[in-house]
Amino acid sequence: MSPTSPLNAEIARIRSTEIALHGPYNPAGKPDNPLRVVFLSSYGHAYSLLATGPMALYDLINRRPDVPALAERALAYDCLLADANRLHTPGGEPYRSIENPAPVAGADIVGVSVTNAGDLHCVLRLLDLAGIPRHSADRAAGVHPLIVGGSAGLANPEPMADYLDIVALGEAEHSLLELIRLLHANPALTPTAALEQAARIPGLYVPSLYEHDLLPGGGTAAIRPRTPTVPATVHPQYLTPHDLGPAHFTSPISDGSCAVVIANLGCRHSCHMCTLGTPPFRNAPIDQLTAYVDTLERHGIRKIVISSPTFTQYRHRHELLDHISAYADRAPEPVSVIIGSLRADEVTARYLDAVARLDPGHLFTELSLDAPRGVITIAPEFAAPDLVRIFGKTMDAYRVDRALDLCRTTTHFGTVMLYFMLGAPGESDQDRLAIADYAHRVYQRLGRKDGAVIVKVQQFMPQPGTVSQRLPMADPDLVDGWVNDIRERLHTLAGPAHDRFRVLWGEHSRLLLEALCDRGDRRVGHVLEALHDAGTDFAHLTKAQLEQALAAHGLTFSSYLAARDTDLLPWQTVNTVHPEAEQALAAALRNRVPVPA
Ligand code: SF4
Repeated sequence: MSPTSPLNAEIARIRSTEIALHGPYNPAGKPDNPLRVVFLSSYGHAYSLLATGPMALYDLINRRPDVPALAERALAYDCLLADANRLHTPGGEPYRSIENPAPVAGADIVGVSVTNAGDLHCVLRLLDLAGIPRHSADRAAGVHPLIVGGSAGLANPEPMADYLDIVALGEAEHSLLELIRLLHANPALTPTAALEQAARIPGLYVPSLYEHDLLPGGGTAAIRPRTPTVPATVHPQYLTPHDLGPAHFTSPISDGSCAVVIANLGCRHSCHMCTLGTPPFRNAPIDQLTAYVDTLERHGIRKIVISSPTFTQYRHRHELLDHISAYADRAPEPVSVIIGSLRADEVTARYLDAVARLDPGHLFTELSLDAPRGVITIAPEFAAPDLVRIFGKTMDAYRVDRALDLCRTTTHFGTVMLYFMLGAPGESDQDRLAIADYAHRVYQRLGRKDGAVIVKVQQFMPQPGTVSQRLPMADPDLVDGWVNDIRERLHTLAGPAHDRFRVLWGEHSRLLLEALCDRGDRRVGHVLEALHDAGTDFAHLTKAQLEQALAAHGLTFSSYLAARDTDLLPWQTVNTVHPEAEQALAAALRNRVPVPA
């Protein structure tokens, strides 16, 4: 392999830009024969550094002298060549990590992180790229790595059951380290024994140790552990901030331009359709975050992404914002802060002032509105007040009006981003059109002609692991028409001011995949594999293509959209939701008498 090959040249460039923000790694004190752990990323370099889950594990493994492993990262390098769904290295040289020229395929453990169920097919592409057999059953101990998956896209791990050896549920800072210690201490374990012992580590789910009886058309009839030693249920792990370590809250490596702060985890609310309310709410230690900002200042890193979706709930938010503000005041060039979400129902005048001083950008900066730059987020999710209540949201009209009144008193916040879901069970045409009325009312309350309202529409998707998980799903094909109806009504209501509104909706193909994979059983991975091998463009996947691929496996798309009232969930082994809560939500929706907004 030439040191000047395009791949090696790109990696040399990457390495020359990287700054280890928590200090250099020192592999010297590691136990003998450390394992090789490679984290695969579907992203290029800059985005891969924002993936705080795998980056935190990478940092932990490399930083702790007692962990008998070294971690590496292998990315979707710019120089890779695409051939339909496959990626290749230039000249066919082995796919390698940033840290190590040895082939990724020779690692002991490979980690893959999937944040959205609509992206599960990316796992196949990464395994192909690395030259690792896709199917667990085709991989041999001592020859191929153990493939460990994780993150929110695997809340229902079953579609990937035949491809991943292990799925780490929740936060893997303990479970992955235990797995590493197990494999390092027992190199002679047979693959079966290794997996059986791994299955006893809290938070690790080993799909191959469970037998699933599948229903015709789609769904799961029965699940049985294959041996008596395999636990009947496996639950996600959630750890204390101390156990998680600093890299879980602050990105450990920067390319010199940008760094990420995750100030808090979870949400203080528990809305029935949201996965954020499932983990316990935890605050990052403020001294860690302020010290990190000081480090960024020393390195001249001037873009800070605060990516907590519930940052307004962070106990020390004012202190953190003041600290960043002080850095911005001292900096010779502008410091930009991107805040993932400014939740209207939780803002105060003091908070808005603090944020306004930072001239914050927003994650949706692609929106070229000539409105003042500050964007405030309001996520009622539903325009009908009773649906808001039924799903446990706290965003009532009083809180929204109060926030808009606060915005009116500043010159900075002129854009409101409204989040709504379409397609909840029992939703009527009237409920959907009320979204236009809601948006119009927000614009009027904002009270400024140069203001703007962005309506971001998502389809209601019952997420595995939430109280909504058994509810029926609308066909994603219907949503285009619903969005058009909302746009037309908004146009009529706003009249000459209609250009102050945007209704955003897209990624239809991803929603088809997400709907299928959120609910999918073990056959769904094979459907994805068939589409992958056929060279199907997943970014433009049509319903017809998906239905054809499902039919070839004896499955129907509609069976995955239907309610799962009484069925066994395909992800029952990892399920933690109380059936009483599910039944109460379903009954409230059934008995609902829609009230006009
Ligand atoms: S929908 Fe919003 S308020 Fe509700 S749990 Fe999720 S993040 Fe929290």
